[in-house]
This record gives sequence, structure tokens and C-alpha cells, in this order.
Amino acid sequence: MHELSIACEILEQVMATATEHGATEVKHVTLQIGRLSHTNPEQLSFCFKAIAEDSIAKDADFIVEMIPPSLECECGYTGPIDEKQIQENCGFTSELLAYAAVMDCPICGKHARIKGGRELIIKSIEIETENQD
Ligand SMILES: [Zn+2]
Repeated sequence: MHELSIACEILEQVMATATEHGATEVKHVTLQIGRLSHTNPEQLSFCFKAIAEDSIAKDADFIVEMIPPSLECECGYTGPIDEKQIQENCGFTSELLAYAAVMDCPICGKHARIKGGRELIIKSIEIETENQD
């Protein structure tokens, strides 16, 4: 499963950071995932909880933020993709096909490139250490 291997990598990084800072407990893990990365946040959260069961991250709040991709056009325009336009035109959001279908630049009307949307970033980790009260 795609999500399981990602969850393993995340836990590895979280544990490395936690160990480095002498953590006794991991409280929050905030993750940013690109909309086009084909990652299901619920499944990812579930996998993370499952593999973190025997670690100090077992009770961590796992927060996933979805990052929309942006448009980049040859006319110089860069900006967010208009999700409303996608919804109106295609009847659904956050699917690769929908994004691929409506990639017209809002300034010049030409086809614009999709930039980003495939990120997978650990934004922040909150830990508890022995020294803290
Ligand atoms: Zn343009």
C-alpha cells in the first residue's frame, strides 16, 4: 500500500527528530501533502497510528494539510488554481483529471502548466521532553 510506505518514512523521520531532541513523547505531527500526490490522508493517518503503536509517537495527533497545486503560465502568471472553476466545469475537485482538464491561464487564456501539488512535507513536530514540566 502506497500510504503504508509513506507512513513508515514519516515515522522514521519523526523518530529521528524526536530522538535527537531527547523526546519522551511526540504530541503532534503536521504533514503537508500535495493534492496530486494520490495520497489518502485518512489512510495515511490510519497507517501512521498502526505502525507508531509501539513508539513514543503512538498518541500523537496526526494532522494532514492538503496543498493545492498552482498554475504557471508563459505570460508570467503564477497563482492558485481556481477550485470553483474546476468544480463548475468538471463536477468534482482534487482529481488529477479535473486539474488536467481545466488548465487555462486566467490572464491570457492559454494553457498553463501545473506546478507543485505532489509535495509531501513534514511541516512540524511537537514533542515533549523530560526537562519540560
Ligand atoms: Zn497566461
